[in-house]
Amino acid sequence: MIDVDGIVRIIEERKAKTIGLQFPEGLKRQGPGIAKDVEARTGALVIVSGDPCYGACDIDDSLLDMVDVLFHFGHSRLMDDDRIVFIEYHHEVEVDTAIRNALPLLGQKVGIVTTVQHIHMLKRMEQLLIEAGKTPVIARGDSRITYPGQLLGCNFSATPAGVDTVLYVGSGNFHPMGAQLSTGVPVIAADPFTGEARKVDVEKIMRQRYALMAKAMDAKKWGIIIGTKTGQKRLELARRIKETAGDATLISIREITPDRLLSFKVDAYVSTVCPRVAIDDAGRFGVPVLTPVEFDIVKGLRKWEDLAFDEIKG
Ligand code: SF4
Repeated sequence: MIDVDGIVRIIEERKAKTIGLQFPEGLKRQGPGIAKDVEARTGALVIVSGDPCYGACDIDDSLLDMVDVLFHFGHSRLMDDDRIVFIEYHHEVEVDTAIRNALPLLGQKVGIVTTVQHIHMLKRMEQLLIEAGKTPVIARGDSRITYPGQLLGCNFSATPAGVDTVLYVGSGNFHPMGAQLSTGVPVIAADPFTGEARKVDVEKIMRQRYALMAKAMDAKKWGIIIGTKTGQKRLELARRIKETAGDATLISIREITPDRLLSFKVDAYVSTVCPRVAIDDAGRFGVPVLTPVEFDIVKGLRKWEDLAFDEIKG
């Protein structure tokens, strides 16, 4: 449920006249209804962003320049800018069934991690483990992370070290695989939507990544992709990679598509944007698109057995 009363209160407090609303894809359909409601209750002019939005890093800067306040929905705060108000979205789904199914797979000392959509259930997760005789551990991440125990697809810093297993509560594969690769500790994923629990397997993704790195070993011409989204800009990292790569071009792209990459006729890319792009979309690109971690391995700056997911640290 989106708290429209809270939004109206903020608009009134700030005496804002022009408002921006930015939703991730899953919440966009609520945009017209919320815009109409807010306009009727405040008299402000409301503009809804129609561009894709994948995370709190992905602020619609053009819209931000046009409005007094931009409400960014679905994600937790990633940067401090008084003009942006982050409105989180929490799934009202119980976690008990999935966690009870995970119990037989867990060790004694268990790190708990989840996404912001389930973070309000963290206490309940901890309580269920204590009731089962386990020792739960919750860690605080770096400054990119808002809550203890919270993961982003680009930051696993809240994954506790020194535990026997990590319990990931949420859906999808990317976050639990990243948590496992960043700690080397087995991760059990408990999905509140299906109630199922499973041990996370990183073998398949590792094989895919090793195959792409092997292919990139022959690359002569490199493209180094720089993101233009607010929370994805890593120019210094891109500059460092360019110096190592030899024949390399820095290329800025907002939305990466296979067509845009094909136009440059390079042998391989290194992506410094959202780490998920290189991994989730690997099958769509005609040439290897490596993460900075993988590039370092190809260039002999890191050991092959030290493969991990790329992270944007805070
Ligand atoms: Fe999410 Fe990617 Fe942005 Fe990180 S960089 S917040 S994983 S969209």
